[in-house]
Amino acid sequence: MLKLRLITYGCQANELDSERIAGLLGREGYELIEHDEEADLIILNTCAIREKAEQKVYSRLGTFRELKRRKKGLRVGICGCVAQQEGQALLNRFPYLDFVVGPAQLTSIPTLLRERANRGIATARAPAFSYPSTAPIHRRSGIKAWVSIMEGCDRFCAFCVVPFTRGRERSRPPQEIVEEIRGLKEQGYREVTLLGQTVNSYGKNPRAPATFVELLRMIDHIIEGEMRVRFTSPYPGDVTEELAEALADLHSLCEHIHLPVQSGSNRTLRRMKRGYSRDDYLGKVELLRTRVPELALTTDIIVGFPGETERDFEETLSLIQDVGYDGAFIFKYSTRPHTPAARMSDQVPEEVKGHRLEQALGLLNMLSLERNRAYLGRTVEVLVDREDVKGDAVRLAGRTRGNKIVHFSGEEQRDGDLVPVAITGASALHLQGEIVSNGTKSLWKKDLTTLHPLSMIS
Ligand code: SF4
Repeated sequence: MLKLRLITYGCQANELDSERIAGLLGREGYELIEHDEEADLIILNTCAIREKAEQKVYSRLGTFRELKRRKKGLRVGICGCVAQQEGQALLNRFPYLDFVVGPAQLTSIPTLLRERANRGIATARAPAFSYPSTAPIHRRSGIKAWVSIMEGCDRFCAFCVVPFTRGRERSRPPQEIVEEIRGLKEQGYREVTLLGQTVNSYGKNPRAPATFVELLRMIDHIIEGEMRVRFTSPYPGDVTEELAEALADLHSLCEHIHLPVQSGSNRTLRRMKRGYSRDDYLGKVELLRTRVPELALTTDIIVGFPGETERDFEETLSLIQDVGYDGAFIFKYSTRPHTPAARMSDQVPEEVKGHRLEQALGLLNMLSLERNRAYLGRTVEVLVDREDVKGDAVRLAGRTRGNKIVHFSGEEQRDGDLVPVAITGASALHLQGEIVSNGTKSLWKKDLTTLHPLSMIS
């Protein structure tokens, strides 16, 4: 068998793309391995969302020059958003690179590999392709699966490369999605996460025969209480009353939403072209929390966007405080090619960005700890998905419906079990607990986490 080393950077869409690449190449006789030295083929599946992520790719790529010199026949390729963004420039800059493939051209990889004589490139001027439903996916987990429901984005936020690297918005037919999830259920999967760059804009452009909420209801119907459903990432402007209702009453839908806000300042939100104000966003949070009081809420925040003043930043801090997030990804702004923000003249100095990042993270950690401490003494439903054996002790880990990581001890439980865990400890990032009794499939109930709803902290 040929050996494939597949290195993935970035978001869940990239994780799924790597599973697609592994599926396509599995059909060509490749097996996945973990060490660069043993590989016949190394693929970096890359992320261009932040400068740091892109630099990581280049420095990793640099390490393969020597390996290629030592190992005759080794091939190295780049896929993903950096491949789409940089194209031919990558082949020019790295003479030992064999191929460059954008996220919308994954199915061309086997052909490029067969054409061994040429250094191949497959990127699209306007990415528009969707991965065929009949093409293979080699899923890493037997418990949790990513399911793409839409690709691309039409929003063109001022800082974001996604509309350039992944193209314009396109939704998969609902029936195709439902069939994929039915198949996952039959294979024993316990959780699906529906993916899309603005996942709740599903069905709008071009119009699909179902809206996002109608799709959620179709999925809930066929799942029959056997699986958890999550989705990421929703666009705040498209959070509707119907979506809040679905979160409240669909058995399968987990009580967690990752709702990227990016900034708490109206001035910065306008310059970012986010299409909503601070009050609009807070209104959506209120709507969701009124319908689902125990909802866990996480977000993405950028600090140091061009022109961000101390006052703008303080508004972001006050929004973090007002919402009381369960968690957040907070990043320093970094310039991205082709984006309007990269051309803005009032870039914020690095040290100011660094200082703001520390402040925002400090506040977030304090609030997350407070939110997590509210779980002490409660019993939550945990889906086991990780085992960690240290000495004689078996430590398990899993996630609550609110997507919180819980560590606990257990010997009889296996990945995919649902267990009730009494929470005995909390940190800002995770919970610890003890199993209350042996978990069985009969625990598939929404009620377990709603016994003691969390109140809003703000
Ligand atoms: S909505 Fe999200 S994916 Fe689309 S342009 Fe804005 S930040 Fe990028």
